[in-house]
Amino acid sequence: MSEAKTIKKTHWRPKRYMAYIIATVVALVLPWIEVGGNHFFLLSFDKMKLHLAFVQFDMQELYLMPFVLMILFISIFGMTVFGGRMFCGWICPQTTFRVIFRDLIETKLLKMRRSVKNKQKEPDYSKPENKAKRVISILIWSVLAVIAAADFMWYFVPPEDFFNYLNNPGDHMVMIGFVLGVAAFLVFDIVFIKENFCVYVCPYSRVQSVLYDEHTIMAIYDEYRGGKIYDENHNKIANSIKEVKEKNGENALCTACESCVKVCPTHIDIRKGLQLECINCLECVDACTDVMAKFNEPTLVKWSSEYETLFRKGKTRYFRPKIIGYIAVLIIITIILGVMASKKEYMLLNINKENRNYSIVTEPRGCKLGVDKDCHFVVENAYEFLLQNTQNEKMKFFFEVKPDIKVNGKINISKPKKPFAVTPGIKKKKIVLLTTKDILVDDTRHDVIIPITIHAYALDKDGKPSKKISVLRKATFVFPRADILKK
Ligand code: SF4
Ligand code: SF4
Repeated sequence: MSEAKTIKKTHWRPKRYMAYIIATVVALVLPWIEVGGNHFFLLSFDKMKLHLAFVQFDMQELYLMPFVLMILFISIFGMTVFGGRMFCGWICPQTTFRVIFRDLIETKLLKMRRSVKNKQKEPDYSKPENKAKRVISILIWSVLAVIAAADFMWYFVPPEDFFNYLNNPGDHMVMIGFVLGVAAFLVFDIVFIKENFCVYVCPYSRVQSVLYDEHTIMAIYDEYRGGKIYDENHNKIANSIKEVKEKNGENALCTACESCVKVCPTHIDIRKGLQLECINCLECVDACTDVMAKFNEPTLVKWSSEYETLFRKGKTRYFRPKIIGYIAVLIIITIILGVMASKKEYMLLNINKENRNYSIVTEPRGCKLGVDKDCHFVVENAYEFLLQNTQNEKMKFFFEVKPDIKVNGKINISKPKKPFAVTPGIKKKKIVLLTTKDILVDDTRHDVIIPITIHAYALDKDGKPSKKISVLRKATFVFPRADILKK
């Protein structure tokens, strides 16, 4: 008796609704948030950009995407090992949309269903008043489906561009068609396919069973207290409270009221044992909590593990090696992603040296050594720079050159003479000539390959080299052997 007095009714439904609200608000608001002109997540195919955690990456930097996908999948797998199909019942848009359509629109708003507690009985759509309500419910959901489809699109076309493009629909039929296609699918899926999507279509339901272990928490019927309702072959052996007690003894608590069955969105009887169709929504737990509260007993369907409730081996171990392993792998991948992202360069530069090692010319061009005043030789190395401005605005770029070894003189930039502008997103080819009039090295036997570092940078608004938009590249400068120069 003393235990019965302390029983507390815990309902999961309000918590689940809260999770849906948070997930929906986050999904809707996130595309609108910009930090420094960048979004939290945006994979823009028209601008060939990836925004991740408010940092902009170019398509050439998509090497980060596998890490993002790894984090996503490992999180879902880890969540499954920990709490079964928790993702399905608590976060998945399919479940959220079904709750909005079935429980909010059909049940609460239009009163087509008696109660959210009975999800088995479909409304009688042949009744005249239900026919009109059916049309209204589909219309309301269609509007929400278009918003959901547009929201999905905002992760590929940011809202600021999306609404601009809508002003000019003729030029953006692919985008509009995609949004309408997704919306049409959502209407068909949520109104007609329903939870059959979770049971028969969703690939996640197929893989999740291999991830479970005996400590995975899920909705479990406690047949020690409730009594066996199905035999080993899954045949139902008790259909009434009388049969429950006949088969299991007087202490068996299940009243065979089937509240847990009626409320189940995937139409299963949790008393049959673990089933792939269960999305861990815990509606059955809430239903039995209410029934058992009348007898001052804790619920017979619990959010618990097989280890604790079925095998009675002890307490569920939440932080077991498998879970710690998932957390560790997640932390490691997140650190790798963070480190790689922090090494991100804010401009792209490829340097190719011309096939010819060098040229020796006179300067001023065409003058004769020893004849013309101020005439001197220069050693010239030519390069092709392929530069891309990955920022959103037109910027000017320039560079400087430093030898990596000690040499007797200076390498100068003869071309281009001054900073040059590059339009965002455009790959600009630039022929660059590096020259020297000094005897950098005096080698009588070989041409000398001098390693150099090229520091390329954008100029900020004050015309000063930007610290952020700047890259270093290794290259070489070939200097001729001494006798060639003497000739
Ligand atoms: S709600 Fe509880 S008491 Fe009713 S049938 Fe389900 S398990 Fe039995
Ligand atoms: S069995 Fe329970 S937890 Fe599983 S889907 Fe049905 S109501 Fe949800």
